[in-house]
Amino acid sequence: SVSMTALRTLDQSAKLQNVLYEIRGAALAEATRLEKEGHTILKLNTGNPAIFGFEAPYQIVRDMLRAVPTAHGYTDARGIVEARRAIVSRYENVEGFPRFDVDDVYLGNGVSELITMVMQALLDQGDEVLIPAPDYPLWTAMTSLSGGTPVHYLADENNSWQPDLEDIRSKITPKTKAIVVINPNNPTGAVYSREVLEGIAQIAREHSLLILSDEIYDRILFDEAKHISMAQVAPDLLVLTFNGLSKTYRVAGYRSGWLVITGPRDHAAGFLEGIQLLASTRLSPNGPGQHAVLAALTGVQSIDALIAPEGRLTLQRDVTWEGLNAIPGVSCVKPEGALYAFPRLDPEVHEIHDDKKLIYDLLKAEHILLVEGTGFNWPTPDHLRVVNLPEPRVLAEAIERLGNFLASYKQ
Ligand code: PLP
Repeated sequence: SVSMTALRTLDQSAKLQNVLYEIRGAALAEATRLEKEGHTILKLNTGNPAIFGFEAPYQIVRDMLRAVPTAHGYTDARGIVEARRAIVSRYENVEGFPRFDVDDVYLGNGVSELITMVMQALLDQGDEVLIPAPDYPLWTAMTSLSGGTPVHYLADENNSWQPDLEDIRSKITPKTKAIVVINPNNPTGAVYSREVLEGIAQIAREHSLLILSDEIYDRILFDEAKHISMAQVAPDLLVLTFNGLSKTYRVAGYRSGWLVITGPRDHAAGFLEGIQLLASTRLSPNGPGQHAVLAALTGVQSIDALIAPEGRLTLQRDVTWEGLNAIPGVSCVKPEGALYAFPRLDPEVHEIHDDKKLIYDLLKAEHILLVEGTGFNWPTPDHLRVVNLPEPRVLAEAIERLGNFLASYKQ
């Protein structure tokens, strides 16, 4: 006879306890359920240009397609040398960016994979990493998953969301190993000043911190904003710079990112061997996506038209920013870069105790999906993130509906 054993309960691992990623959390599951019921949901939860009518640049598609028949093998764990050479050239054109060579470049399946690899290679239990609040939450999640402790430093909304250097200093302990900089910033749209970047570099110098600089929006800049890389102000320090094609070239689905290592490294040989080991264990980045990097970096830079004064992304940034500031009790710092706005709901006007519930209630009432500020590790329930990717008309209507909803919303 066949005996039946009760199936053992499978819970998620304890490692995931502090791993949060609300951008694709419960509210998205509810949005998907509403869509199955036949509703149309305006999904402003991810910075995914493709779903808002942004096409992949023709040249990237053409060159990648040409390469596909011969891109079927595993490659070097760092990626194909032609693409890494294109990355070296890209930064040679950035004045003051420290020199590096092809062996200092890793391609990855998006910046996301590289963040995961670097945190796993770097952290031991209890090691602290300084991460901005608000942040792009993968940095916090991967710090936790890797056994580290995320320690959040504040960006100052009253100072155009620039990082607060005093707050950074006050949070350094003997266990602080690295500092994460996200510039231009997701979710605030801030582009950091030279003064602030130099201040961060100085703190890193004094406390021997590794600098991890996420610059995926470095070419998405509005008005007069200028981007300065951390590596430019800290050529004497070990800096890992992360970037990729998802945003600037609107091909997030090709999963193409890179990591560049600059500065002194004799003191970090073990850590860098760890990155090489983890890159090797995943064999190689996807082949076609590497050819997309080569095509993108050597081709026409079509982002320039989108961020020109009358360019689509600039107009959308304006519509979002103006629309949000027109809502009573809502204020929004003007985004200088990236694809988002991070408005504040004045607690005197809008008493929100649970911003996750606000997002859920907005979704149900208006069929608009945003992400709550606490999903970006912001400490208080008084912010939201809006994605500036839909056409101006769609954005304007969504923000008007948000305003109408907030006018009568109570918790
Ligand atoms: N870093 C930041 C700041 C982002 O906003 C994103 C995506 O939104 C990523 C990294 C991940 O990008 P990728 O598509 O290269 O994995």
